[in-house]
Amino acid sequence: MTRRRWIAEHWDEATATIEGAQAEHLARVLRAQPGMEFDVVAGGRVFHAQVAAVTLAGEKSEVRFNLTTEVQADPALPVTLVLAVYKFDRMEWAIEKATELGVEAIAPVLARRTEKHLAQAAEKRAERWRRIAHEAAQQARRSDIPLIHDPAPLTHRVRAASAATRIVLAEQERTTTLYHAIEEAIAAAKDEMPQLEIAIGPEGGWAPAEEALFDANGWRAASLGPRILRAETAAIAALAVIAACLE
Ligand code: SAH
Repeated sequence: MTRRRWIAEHWDEATATIEGAQAEHLARVLRAQPGMEFDVVAGGRVFHAQVAAVTLAGEKSEVRFNLTTEVQADPALPVTLVLAVYKFDRMEWAIEKATELGVEAIAPVLARRTEKHLAQAAEKRAERWRRIAHEAAQQARRSDIPLIHDPAPLTHRVRAASAATRIVLAEQERTTTLYHAIEEAIAAAKDEMPQLEIAIGPEGGWAPAEEALFDANGWRAASLGPRILRAETAAIAALAVIAACLE
């Protein structure tokens, strides 16, 4: 489990202090004592820290720490996965695995070939998707939890203004590979991390009208190779390609 992080009010190079209610909680409920270890956030950086002194005095409570080692912060992959709603059990699997692989956000969308009853049930399902992402993030020791957007019609997402490089995965695409599209996005972003949005169709694939819509709104089609993958396999493969390019 990811350890809870305590945010320090004051800090310097080697020490940090937590005050007030947080300090009282540490001292009273968690029985913090000199020598015990906690993770402390000091100035936006996370450290393993050892309790140096505890003062239990109501609002004036204070816990002082010696900072030992900095914990490597692990930012999410700068990717939003636009995932067409399809069979819930498989989709949940995709959400879990995408979270493990570091996805930043998932936007479930209702596509033409999303089955009607799944489209109707999607809104209620979103809470469960959030729970799955939460648990998978903890399991993967992430320091953040991916944002799961409310399900929305595909057209909204495709037309929405975005600063990201937007890529639609399509099994018919033969010229541009995802790898190639990502390399171009990296080159265009120069020193910065490129922000990516990757759309994956439902079991039946994208309808021709949807492909035209992506095209008309500046999305670039890309391929994951000559084999037809299930949507959840496509999600995992795409994130692995992106991680290999960016991390
Ligand atoms: N219509 C297909 C299945 C679609 S697969 C069929 O003939 O059965 C579901 C989704 O996975 C697709 O919409 C696409 O986004 C993605 N996908 C699957 N294989 C892919 C590939 N080789 N390249 C790019 N995307 C792929």
